[in-house]
Amino acid sequence: MIKESVVGELEKIVGKVDVLRSKEALKAYSYDGTTSWIREPDIVVFPTSTQEVSAILSLANTERIPVTPRGGGTNVSGGSVPIEGGIVLCTTKMNRILKVDKENLTATVEPGVVLMDFNMALARQGLFFPPDPQSFLGATLGGVIAENAGGPACVKYGVTKQYVLGLEVVLPNGTILQLGGRTIKNVVGYDLTMLFVSSEGTLGVVTKAELKVNPLPPARKTIMAVYSDVALAGETVFRVLEHGVIPDKIELLDNWVVNRIEEMMPMGLPKDADAVLLFESDGIPEAVEKETERIVELSKSYGAVDVRVARDTDEANRYWLARRAGFAAVFGKAPTVFAEDVTVPRGQIPALIRKCKEIAGKYHLEMCILGHAGDGNLHPAILTDINNKEHYDRAVKAMDEIIEAALDLGGVLSGEHGIGLEKRAFFVQTQDPNVVDLMKGIKALVDPNNIMNPGKIW
Ligand SMILES: Cc1cc2nc3c(=O)[nH]c(=O)nc-3n(C[C@H](O)[C@H](O)[C@H](O)COP(=O)(O)OP(=O)(O)OC[C@H]3O[C@@H](n4cnc5c(N)ncnc54)[C@H](O)[C@@H]3O)c2cc1C
Repeated sequence: MIKESVVGELEKIVGKVDVLRSKEALKAYSYDGTTSWIREPDIVVFPTSTQEVSAILSLANTERIPVTPRGGGTNVSGGSVPIEGGIVLCTTKMNRILKVDKENLTATVEPGVVLMDFNMALARQGLFFPPDPQSFLGATLGGVIAENAGGPACVKYGVTKQYVLGLEVVLPNGTILQLGGRTIKNVVGYDLTMLFVSSEGTLGVVTKAELKVNPLPPARKTIMAVYSDVALAGETVFRVLEHGVIPDKIELLDNWVVNRIEEMMPMGLPKDADAVLLFESDGIPEAVEKETERIVELSKSYGAVDVRVARDTDEANRYWLARRAGFAAVFGKAPTVFAEDVTVPRGQIPALIRKCKEIAGKYHLEMCILGHAGDGNLHPAILTDINNKEHYDRAVKAMDEIIEAALDLGGVLSGEHGIGLEKRAFFVQTQDPNVVDLMKGIKALVDPNNIMNPGKIW
């Protein structure tokens, strides 16, 4: 419980209207995209400046009150759930795009800018921000940075960390740090900017970011390759890349996902396919034409039974809308869904797919696979029900085995969703203990009173 005197102080810092304590508000800020982790905060505050963030953290630090930073609340690892109560510090009112510098291909933003709004503003100047988590309608840049988010376009463009040139960060004691800069190259001491990228709000609050942006490619084409064996689709991914063709996107949807999407909103996906791969090629028109031809040839030679090149933007948009609907189609079909985020070296995608199917069969579970195959990042999803203990226990065992299989194949626990609350046990079990100790040491140095998003990562 927060003392009334502290509530009064918070109201003085941000103003009364930017402090919420109603029952409804606390409920609304008690969960995130996982939906399975729920804990109400004691209070929600909406700062509008770096100075206000600094004053809030300084007060919380003195009073030893947990603070959970929150952007859009779309993460799927429990990251923005205030698991120890306290203050939710929501950045959605720090949502200004401060500068777009076309000459230097950079932009300066506040953390609460929604990714979609950022890209709309950039598009007006012929620019775009490549990392494209499929939650872009709600995810904020602060959350994108704190999770080092990726998306379909990471095959060619890389993940968020490749686009963060500098950060303004407020530490738990209220100190404001300026990290990095505005240049593409910067090797001045330890790279502390990167320490905050993917730190999941456990080290401080990002209050400003200097981001690299790219010119919008003048041409794009979408190609759908249809497979009668999902593992062959997996093989095509690394074969295409091996032949020197780097599409910006390669996404995989299996038969189950395709059919759920078609039930939800018919998009013309082939319902009898075991899997489809969606490719996008972008760049100058001549290169896109050539690359599209190669993708068609290579997909066929590695087992596609049909390959369609979208005739126009409408058809292409339909396919990508279908892909974006994938998660909704899956999550709507069971009371509880485990959506994994394992990532393997791309050559191991077929082996991972086979292993997932074997594990689902062994535990008699309904499982589907979708994901960013071009990055080796798959989201095998198991449908279960937390209220059916016997079924749920089987699902947990299966998920554990999928993670173990990915690690055995040289992969990692999470490609883009982070550890949060969801994977804490696995994090500690699977990482080098010396690495975990070093991370804990860094956390203790930066946040000795453990007020920043406590209970996360380990
Ligand atoms: C339908 C759907 C599709 C998705 N697709 C993808 C995908 O393709 N790729 C992908 O990578 N992720 C994906 N995600 C996960 C999620 O959307 C991303 O992690 C996103 O970056 C989170 O942004 P957010 O603003 O919602 O952050 P939140 O969920 O609010 O917070 C995420 C984490 O960041 C911290 N945080 C937030 N703001 C700050 C700040 N200013 N300073 C410090 N820490 C902060 C929080 O404490 C929390 O730990 C998807 C989620 C959904 C629901």
